[in-house]
Amino acid sequence: MVRVMALDKLGINVTILGSGTCVPSLQRGSCSVLMQIGATHLLFDSGPGTMRRLLEAGTTILDLNYLFYSHFHPDHSAELVPLIFATKYPDASRRQSPLTILGGRGLTDFFAGLKAVYGSWIELAAGLLKILEFDNTTKDSKKFSGFSVETVPVEHNPESVAYRITGDDGSSVVYSGDTDFSENLIELAKDADLLICESAMPDSLRVKGHLTPSMAGDIATRAGVRQLVLTHFYPDCENVDITRECRKTYSGPLLLAEDLMRIEVCK
Ligand SMILES: [Zn+2]
Ligand SMILES: [Zn+2]
Repeated sequence: MVRVMALDKLGINVTILGSGTCVPSLQRGSCSVLMQIGATHLLFDSGPGTMRRLLEAGTTILDLNYLFYSHFHPDHSAELVPLIFATKYPDASRRQSPLTILGGRGLTDFFAGLKAVYGSWIELAAGLLKILEFDNTTKDSKKFSGFSVETVPVEHNPESVAYRITGDDGSSVVYSGDTDFSENLIELAKDADLLICESAMPDSLRVKGHLTPSMAGDIATRAGVRQLVLTHFYPDCENVDITRECRKTYSGPLLLAEDLMRIEVCK
């Protein structure tokens, strides 16, 4: 059940930083979602404008402990370089805790490519920057202090993964990243407290590699999630009744993401 967190409980505090796409918009930033579990800050994707939205949400880049990437399209990853570079101002010693970057297989090569261009501009002090890959050919998982992460490959790019975060209190949030219809996503989201699911285009304008509101609703219904948030809206969605399209296939609690929307999840 999704409700306001009791102060003595460690749930997952979700903030939608960017509910939009690659298309410039004053209302919707590019894709990014912040999850806080206690004092630990997890960022999912960092499209252009993410650092500004972080500030608006009351968080700074120095608060971030983990950066998760669903895939490498620029509207999901482009602010990685500015984020690391900004960490060095006025000097890199401001960051004391490690920053771990996680993504599907290919992340190490992706970062090496960025390093070939930006060199030491995107290096941090020794031992502070870590890169971890998930297998994007099958299910994978990792355990961290305070939460665990499960991933599955989804239908978008070769490196694409969706994430399920489970807090130590059992709270669970699934982030789809970009995907077409995905049985893997249904399995990953089984009985999750919250599914943050892309819904890029209206039903009438479906494009390969993305979901529509009724497809996202179908996935949420089949997974039995307790609440669904639709996000990643291209401008084509703005003049369409997205809720009505999603209601063709899903009858549970539903939110349409807006930038800086907060959702608190706990058991
Ligand atoms: Zn994409
Ligand atoms: Zn996208």
